[in-house]
Amino acid sequence: MLSWQRTIECGKLTLTHTGEKVVLNGWVNKVRTFGDLVFVDLRDRTGLIQVVIDNNDTPHLIAAANSLKPETVISLMGEVRKRRAGTENSKLSTGDVEVAAEKIEVLNEAKLLPFTLSDEEQMKQVDETLRVKYRYLDLRRPSMYQMLSLRHKAVKIIRDYMDNQGFLEIETPIISKSTPEGARDYLIPYRLQPGLFYALPQAPQQYKQLLMVAGVERYFQIARCFRDESQRSDRQPEFTQLDVEMSFITQEDVLKLMEEVSIAVVNAVSDKKMTVPFPRFTYDEAMSLYGNDKPDIRFGLTLKDIGEIASTISFHVFAEALANGGQVKAVLYPGGASLSRKELDQLTDFCKQFGAGGLATVSIGSEGMKSSISRFCEANQLAAIAEQCEAKQGDLVCIIAHANKSVVANVLSRLRLEIGQRCGLRSNDRMEFCFVIDFPLVQWNPDEKRWDAEHHPFTMPHEDNLQYIDSDPGKIRAQCYDLVCNGNESASGSIRIHNSEIQAKVFSLLGISAATQKERFGHILEAFSYGAPPHGGFAIGIDRLIMNLMDEQNIREVMAFPKVGPGYDPLMDAPSSVDSAQLKELGLEIVKTDRVNESQNE
Ligand code: ASP
Repeated sequence: MLSWQRTIECGKLTLTHTGEKVVLNGWVNKVRTFGDLVFVDLRDRTGLIQVVIDNNDTPHLIAAANSLKPETVISLMGEVRKRRAGTENSKLSTGDVEVAAEKIEVLNEAKLLPFTLSDEEQMKQVDETLRVKYRYLDLRRPSMYQMLSLRHKAVKIIRDYMDNQGFLEIETPIISKSTPEGARDYLIPYRLQPGLFYALPQAPQQYKQLLMVAGVERYFQIARCFRDESQRSDRQPEFTQLDVEMSFITQEDVLKLMEEVSIAVVNAVSDKKMTVPFPRFTYDEAMSLYGNDKPDIRFGLTLKDIGEIASTISFHVFAEALANGGQVKAVLYPGGASLSRKELDQLTDFCKQFGAGGLATVSIGSEGMKSSISRFCEANQLAAIAEQCEAKQGDLVCIIAHANKSVVANVLSRLRLEIGQRCGLRSNDRMEFCFVIDFPLVQWNPDEKRWDAEHHPFTMPHEDNLQYIDSDPGKIRAQCYDLVCNGNESASGSIRIHNSEIQAKVFSLLGISAATQKERFGHILEAFSYGAPPHGGFAIGIDRLIMNLMDEQNIREVMAFPKVGPGYDPLMDAPSSVDSAQLKELGLEIVKTDRVNESQNE
């Protein structure tokens, strides 16, 4: 055994070790001196232990202990002893004991750090780019190690679960061909033939479907996906999915698996509460009740269509919205009657930033009903609105009218979330999952003047909707489903097309010409003609799942080495330039543009 090798890890010491001589290895978290005593908090990945150097017992160690710099790696030998009564630290798992050092060896000294790791509160103030630049230091923090460990456990649960269900984990290529998942591809130039490119997979979608054609029947992969999109707090250029595909199944089988694997993970790594079975909404129901397709169902406050009452009120904003095919809808703000004039103005501005012309309100205060539209209506009309919205004494009804239904949906869904937040209804103690099903197959893209796939082009329409493919594509509902958790998209998937004629028809609907179909998707169309089984699947975003499990708002906090800003890695300084010989070899010439600001505004 090496003289400095540990006999036990710091965080494992308890009263049962009292009297034992131990060797510990780790990092100096903090050094404190009190008179004759020097305290060194020693940290390894399992936790922290207090080490004491007493001038009376080991005077020769005092100078060395006092000069230990934070984050220096040391080995020490000493005796475990019970802490004196009253000096225990209940915040530490090792807080009942300490180690009286007899020997200290510096294995590697640390120079002054760019930030102080030992203070978690102070670390919250540290600039994120600096933290990511020194991620190897940032990750030393116990909370970061906890994150890595929770992530590891979650993935292990997933692997074990999928294995038990008879799924094979199969790796698919990273260097491949562009797949149409709706984002931009990351491209890799092909050295041997300049002008040709590989693409990094946005998802292993086509490979997993080809594995079904190959007779695998049950595939999964903890898959890395790459999408060149503008960055957000829940998006990274590369991320990880639990990617799944199954043959000879129905949508019901897939939803069951999605539900079971999610429950298994949540229960294994947290004590968060869930409603089981996961509630389901059709896309149309979700849009009508919540104004979006990823409802936060931790609270009610569903949107009410008050169009009927509004049509009896001679308020030109309502009348115009309704006459032009729009809507008048409302959401309840519990306790909102007490908002001041100024607060109401702020709420109106909040709505205006998402496209509303204004916000009409009805408040049920102690002096009766008050409304911003009272001069246009009778008391009984206000009472009818309040009744439809189930408003009680002290509540406020918020009304949005617009000729464009999607503006009404967007504004009210955001307002509902804001109200939920203000009223403390979005507790992180719960993970409320729900399924949203029956999405439209396609969505009209007015800029490009074409139909875009709502999910991706491999999604199977409901068979009885296929009849609308030429006449009214917007009406087609697809066998497509999302899993939503606390208002965030957690997973999505679909039953796939497995018939080459239907696939070709859907490609054509998406404006993909026969020549392009052959060039980009010839392989899958051909594969479908050799006995492709009916199949379907899904992908769960693992990073977002971990975010929810850890109550994190920022995806970068749940990744070991994230990118910051518009996709920059300050640790490796990537992306970075390459030398001209490499460019020449690849047959590439650089045309300078500055898209960094552009992409941030996307
Ligand atoms: N490939 C899809 C995605 O990444 C998921 C799926 O349909 O299975 O969103």
